[in-house]
Amino acid sequence: MLCIRRATLLTPATQIDNGVLLIDRGRIVAVGDATQIAAPDDAEVIDAGGLLVTPGFIDLQLNGAFGDDFTWAPDTIWRVAAHLPRWGVTSFLPTIITSPLRQVAQAQETLEGGAPPGWRGSTPLGLHCEGPFLNPQKKGAHNPAYLRAPDAQAVANWSPETHVRLVTLAPELDGAHALIADLTARGVVVSAGHSMADYRAAHAGFAAGVRYGTHLFNAMPPLEHRGPGLPGALLSEASVTVGIIPDGVHVHPAIVALAWAAKGPHRLNIVTDAMAALGMAPGRYQIADQEVLVTPHEPGLHVARLASGTLAGSVLAMDEALRRLILYTGCTLSDALATVTTTPADLLGVGHERGRLRAGAWADLVFLTPTIEVVRTMVAGVVCFERE
Ligand code: ZN
Repeated sequence: MLCIRRATLLTPATQIDNGVLLIDRGRIVAVGDATQIAAPDDAEVIDAGGLLVTPGFIDLQLNGAFGDDFTWAPDTIWRVAAHLPRWGVTSFLPTIITSPLRQVAQAQETLEGGAPPGWRGSTPLGLHCEGPFLNPQKKGAHNPAYLRAPDAQAVANWSPETHVRLVTLAPELDGAHALIADLTARGVVVSAGHSMADYRAAHAGFAAGVRYGTHLFNAMPPLEHRGPGLPGALLSEASVTVGIIPDGVHVHPAIVALAWAAKGPHRLNIVTDAMAALGMAPGRYQIADQEVLVTPHEPGLHVARLASGTLAGSVLAMDEALRRLILYTGCTLSDALATVTTTPADLLGVGHERGRLRAGAWADLVFLTPTIEVVRTMVAGVVCFERE
């Protein structure tokens, strides 16, 4: 039994001062304050010293980090995952962008093979397949040579059981609705993105099963007052969750605030969409088989672009993303945390065991200062990062 005491718990819906967490075999068994919970005499005790303790962060879109790109080299997933806890990320979806389908198959094999012996780190919850069924007109940094029409047969083995959790596709493409229905029936969350869908096509996609929008405003038609398009549909449809990249580059800070006002903490999901240069110096990197130039942009933030100038993922860490969300929207820390804990967990259908401090959930925890600096990260009750 492990006991964390003297913590300011953000569950994140409620704050518990002088909080106590009891953890047994990797899972939370009790959450409360010191007047409610007494640790067994033989429990190992961690004194949080008044730090905030929150659920671990969940990143639904991560292309790589530390020089490694998951699409190019799917076997690097475990190596990268070992170091993600430094940013409070305790689970994530390794993202495979448009590429030959064998890259997805290799990533599935990497996850099926499990972690190397003695490994500890952030838990990959399954893949986010961003492509290849995207609209060529909104290819972004994806290599158009590998884009293809929706083909349910070709991806008949994509399911949560085979480690595919989220698929981004363009719902307006011929054959997309059958594919959306197939994937949804198997328990895969389907997202609209890299798409030219107008408002009507977006709603047809929702009716077929689309429940998420990938990096709102990026790689989709603009929001116009007489032609709301995919972004207008995503913003106004209450049941759909949207991802957004709050680096101040992918979308203007005022647009992050607008998305916040429209969707709120339970339908807005912060993703990093970070690529191989995360955690590295500026320079040349790659995303899938394309070269990317990474340059300094602001203190604490680099930007990644193809030679054409097209953004190629971000170089945004999750703690920085949360700080910027609060800066751009004025939201509370508790609400900001929901966008990277409860909201993605609920979208994936794992809200009972991730994304909240509650009995029965995995003890995926971040110890934070009030300014969102990560001091310590635990995954399933094991310390995986400790600030020096
Ligand atoms: Zn994208």
